Amino acid sequence: MTVQVNTELLGELKAFGAFDVSACFNCGNCSAACPVSADEVTFPRRIIRYGQIGDREHLLGSKELWLCYYCGECSETCPRQAEPGEFMASARRYAIASLDSTGISRLLYTSNLFTAFFMAGLTALLAVILLSTRGTMAVERPALFGFISAQAIHYVGTAAILIALIMMVVSVARLSRLFRRGSSSSDKQDETGGANVARRLTVAIGKVVADLATEKHHRSCTEEAQPWYRSRWFMHWTIMWGFIGLAAATTFDYLLLLVADKVPGQPVPLWHPIRLLGTVTGMLVLFGTLRALAARIRKPEKYSSHSLLSDWLFLALLLVATITGFAVEFAVYLPRGHAWSYVAFLVHVIVAIEVVLLFPFTKFAHAVYRPMALLMREMTRHKSLANS
Ligand code: SF4
Ligand code: SF4
Repeated sequence: MTVQVNTELLGELKAFGAFDVSACFNCGNCSAACPVSADEVTFPRRIIRYGQIGDREHLLGSKELWLCYYCGECSETCPRQAEPGEFMASARRYAIASLDSTGISRLLYTSNLFTAFFMAGLTALLAVILLSTRGTMAVERPALFGFISAQAIHYVGTAAILIALIMMVVSVARLSRLFRRGSSSSDKQDETGGANVARRLTVAIGKVVADLATEKHHRSCTEEAQPWYRSRWFMHWTIMWGFIGLAAATTFDYLLLLVADKVPGQPVPLWHPIRLLGTVTGMLVLFGTLRALAARIRKPEKYSSHSLLSDWLFLALLLVATITGFAVEFAVYLPRGHAWSYVAFLVHVIVAIEVVLLFPFTKFAHAVYRPMALLMREMTRHKSLANS
């Protein structure tokens, strides 16, 4: 096996937040301590080794990068304070940036100045586009939807979804190529020549869905004695499933506009299924985001002790989107619009579109890459069991 050595790799990883791992002497304590690492996928020692020797291809092709939940167990046990958990987080940031061919992700991760100008510019651009349509398009309802046209939201939102979708499809294709190259030769043979691939895939998908539904690997990360609702896995679980629920509620609401005679912004009963879904999942996101922000401010654990601007941006977008979402939800029941409700509505629409647009370039992308890695691991594991 030929390894192309990239002498810049370690320096690049440091720009994404990695600590100096040159002190690491490959003792393997971190891999032994990792509750997620298993026989067939040992990490983080191997990933650190790739960084040390400049093996960029294997580093980017390692599904282990995405299996790590950053519990920080490995960092606690490292005798050289090499912070392997932070190295894994930095390598994931580096991977997200490497999968993005526009270079925007790299700049968002490595330049605070660029991030500030980019976010300010994007926010201003979206505000101008949305507000300039006011009064020029059909106004379906007084108050909020007379302030920003529903059609404008539809067009800009659709364009944002298409851009994000195209970017993600390209990145996913690149990552699956890297995963295949990073697989062992026996895995490759089996993937191409095995007659039972369809059966293995079905079993693997079932296991990945069950894994994501319960985050059982994340739960296996031990934490100090504390109730489950204060644990890190529950914080992550609420953000992940809350986010998925909000996306589903928005989609269902839009479909309702298409198939039923519903007017944009029209109040629906509190017990309407879509409203209930949006409210409950919004509360999940709000809870998880506030917990995550508190952890990053108080730094009680390894995982929250080092934060980049990108980490704050991720949480800030979620927080603003949910708080303004609840404000808008309340405002549509009022008989007339108020100044605060117009501001909340504008901010909510802008931030929601920004979340969609930034998905392929930021931490949001791991919501797609992690299931891919889990699927790959299950395929490999199932094959090993079948062959044993
Ligand atoms: S990161 Fe620390 S624990 Fe892990 S192999 Fe290196 S020295 Fe050992
Ligand atoms: S942070 Fe946790 S899950 Fe990630 S490599 Fe370290 S021990 Fe494993």
